[in-house]
Amino acid sequence: MHLSPRVTALKPSTTLALNTRAKALRAEGNDVLSFAAGEPDFPTPQKIVDAAIAALNRGETRYAPVPGDPATRAVIAEKLTAENGIAGLSADHIVVSSGGKQALTHALAALIDPCPAHGTPDQVLIPVPAWVSYAPMVRLAGAQVVELPTTPQMDYKITPDQLRTALSPRTKALILNSPSNPCGTMYDEEELRALAQVIADAARTTCPDLCIITDELYEKIVLSDIAHVSIGSFDEVASRSITVGGLSKAYAMTGWRVGYLACPGEFGASLASAAAKLQSQSTTSIATFILPAVRTALTECAADVERMRVAFVERGQAIYSRISAIPGIACPKPTGAFYVFADISSHFGKTTPNGVAINSAADFAEALLIDHLVACIPGEDFGAGGENCCRFTFACSIGQIRDGMDRLGAFVASLR
Ligand code: PLP
Repeated sequence: MHLSPRVTALKPSTTLALNTRAKALRAEGNDVLSFAAGEPDFPTPQKIVDAAIAALNRGETRYAPVPGDPATRAVIAEKLTAENGIAGLSADHIVVSSGGKQALTHALAALIDPCPAHGTPDQVLIPVPAWVSYAPMVRLAGAQVVELPTTPQMDYKITPDQLRTALSPRTKALILNSPSNPCGTMYDEEELRALAQVIADAARTTCPDLCIITDELYEKIVLSDIAHVSIGSFDEVASRSITVGGLSKAYAMTGWRVGYLACPGEFGASLASAAAKLQSQSTTSIATFILPAVRTALTECAADVERMRVAFVERGQAIYSRISAIPGIACPKPTGAFYVFADISSHFGKTTPNGVAINSAADFAEALLIDHLVACIPGEDFGAGGENCCRFTFACSIGQIRDGMDRLGAFVASLR
């Protein structure tokens, strides 16, 4: 008996795998410092926890409406209108899902035709290095991935010309992620406007069905004076921008599994119905008693979000100054999210004191974990350019950052 090639071709998430490995080493009593998981170390704000407990105590334990209850969808629509400047949204344009991951999966599944009549697969453009799950999600939906390579010198951001050149009549969507995991950088308003203009021009001419899937999971983790801007707030692309958000990162709610998608207008309403249909045949809805907690998070917890953001700013400065002082390691200064994506390729071709050759980011991450008990994510699965880099998450204490970077420095110094 055979499993589907669609699934056998799929690689498990490297980030989850490495994180599991680091946890296992720690469980064996090793003093592992993990910079692997993309997960804040803060507890979920108490008000949010209390809202879920109160809902349970009220007996809110039965099935919820598939896309989320109207009150929660309305709160999300209001947030996106007021904070993100996205016009024309109502509850009907929102689907609440089990994490941003499910929202992205459903958006792609709703857009992509896996068996197009003309025989050639749809294409989805992904600026790379990019979050590990985009490419597998795109392929599972039946489309072809087209990578748009970026470099540390470009702050890992695509240019309008690059986008223009990559677009073809087969392009169905561009996935944008600002602030970026793994790169830790973000587009400013002017850069986003220039990309929006290219999309709008292409939509008028060669690509009438072109969409932007804009993953804004890290919108509130802004570390510099670059303001977060939603591309869906620009008139010229508003009706074709699918904004994906979630509570995992900003509200320290990774385990709660809450995300959403939003797209205004007539198309947005049909996209939301399609995503809800997919959800109705798979997971139904998020857990009913979490819906009031989502409303509490979005309406009452701005101070908690700000407190955590300020901590991320301090941690970002600490890791950046330490990591850039280590010989042969370079990365752009993080401006958003909680990652540094460090180019470690100048150490390829060296060996560890135990005689292990370092010829790839995977070798580097493996040896760093084994020799110095520091876990990071090797960049191979983040797309072109990632193979030179390792990702370090700084959603951990300043003390851990200090000790971890000391160990990283000692590891690099030990290479010959
Ligand atoms: N998008 C990006 C860029 C991420 O880094 C993640 C999680 O790491 C997600 C989406 C999905 O997050 P969640 O499913 O927890 O909302």
